[in-house]
Amino acid sequence: MRDNKVRVRFAPSPTGPLHIGGVRTALYNYLFARHHGGTFILRIEDTDQTRSVEGTESYINESLRWCGIEIDEGVNEGGSYGPYRQSERKDIYSEYVTQLLESGAAYYAFDTPDDLDRMRAEHESRGETFMYNHSVRDGLMNSLAMQESEWQSLIENGTPYVVRFRMPVEEEIAMSDLIRGDIKVNSSTLDDKILYKSDGMPTYHLANIVDDHLMEISHVIRGEEWLPSLPLHGMLYRAFGWDEPQFAHLPLLLKPTGKGKLSKRDGDKMGFPVFPILWPHGETARGYREDGYFPEAFVNMLALLGWNPGTEQEIFSMDELIEAFSLDRVGKSGSRFDPDKAKWFNNHYMQLKSDDELAGLFSLLLKEKGIEETDERVAEVVAMVKERASFVHELWDQSDYFFVAPGTYDEQVVKKRWKDDSAPMMMSLASLLKGVNPFTSAVTEEKVKEWINEKGYGMGNVLNLFRLLVVGASRGPHLFDIIGWLGRDETIRRIEKGVEQLKTGN
Ligand code: GLU
Repeated sequence: MRDNKVRVRFAPSPTGPLHIGGVRTALYNYLFARHHGGTFILRIEDTDQTRSVEGTESYINESLRWCGIEIDEGVNEGGSYGPYRQSERKDIYSEYVTQLLESGAAYYAFDTPDDLDRMRAEHESRGETFMYNHSVRDGLMNSLAMQESEWQSLIENGTPYVVRFRMPVEEEIAMSDLIRGDIKVNSSTLDDKILYKSDGMPTYHLANIVDDHLMEISHVIRGEEWLPSLPLHGMLYRAFGWDEPQFAHLPLLLKPTGKGKLSKRDGDKMGFPVFPILWPHGETARGYREDGYFPEAFVNMLALLGWNPGTEQEIFSMDELIEAFSLDRVGKSGSRFDPDKAKWFNNHYMQLKSDDELAGLFSLLLKEKGIEETDERVAEVVAMVKERASFVHELWDQSDYFFVAPGTYDEQVVKKRWKDDSAPMMMSLASLLKGVNPFTSAVTEEKVKEWINEKGYGMGNVLNLFRLLVVGASRGPHLFDIIGWLGRDETIRRIEKGVEQLKTGN
């Protein structure tokens, strides 16, 4: 008997970058494990070496680390149920396939790929679909149809073979899924799946069942695409005489249009990343991390694509997700991925971050542009503009004029505001500013407004022109906050430069 300990695994095949649907599977496993005080295992399912792609394993590890998903047992972490890479467990599978062969639950098959293609074509010409199953197996090249001496000698002669599961006839396979409920399938509708090949490698089905059993997995939480394999897996557990774990098949992630599964190619087509981090090998693909998403925002967004808390709450830290998560609240139907919602989450987390933390990140970007400012001064700018930005890189679009004086002036504003008397008016504003002390936002505001009133100028007109010269356009936060940050010399320099340029019409 197993104890009641929750042990779950994320079991990717290393076939290239992990799609966000895969990250969500990992996340749900992790949340479930942590919620129950259980163990989260990363198992690498690399038995199909022809599909393995170099660099995938480290990509997966780094993606999970970036998301804050901590692995308890795995290739790098170790653990007492290893090895955690299936290609290192070959001897184990060979022992278990022998067990199935001996009990009669599996058999050797020698049909060549050409034989199978021919049979498939024959069936198709009759409008039928070929299935390697109870209805045809007795007439094919396998150890059920042949004399023992015959198939033994084929094996001894090194004839390539596969081991197939002998799917029982007309049995009702009843399975239950924590998300989908009860599932019943007649075994006669299923084929005799290949479990093992003579090159000593198991297929996914055998390796997966053996490992889930030996690693004492209590709950198998995985994508819906594996639901059709569930009856076979159930039959394999029965053939071995093992208790089966509980199953939960997660709904698909759908394209933003709601039509069809979100695929690895959709990111390129639709202009948003479908991978957590940049895939740096071969044909590169962008990631959420490099696009400027905060891992907290990414995880929060992903958690709600398929699960809901049953309340209106949308913002969850990882700890809150762990606390609230349950499989009961994972829906059956696919969840539509919404790139705008992803941005919304990032904006939210951006506003929660301290100005100092954002300044640290923004300073890196400024340095790349050759701009040197103290973190303290950068934090002051961040405080003024962050509400207009959803990403650190958008801080630049909102604040470039703090760091670089405008070179051109918004034509619309110039057309509307720049009149014959503008140049002398702005020059007298500059001389007023020379005498304002201290040169802070509050004091300059008071003095400039007093001066406008005394002169009888229009408040809006003067302030808009002033902003045009300082910023280059009619955008930005409170004008006096901007000039307080720029300081007297820079403010006056900008006024003089602007007047010069606009006077001569350049
Ligand atoms: N290796 C399978 C995959 O790549 C794992 C399926 C499962 O979790 O059973 O998705």
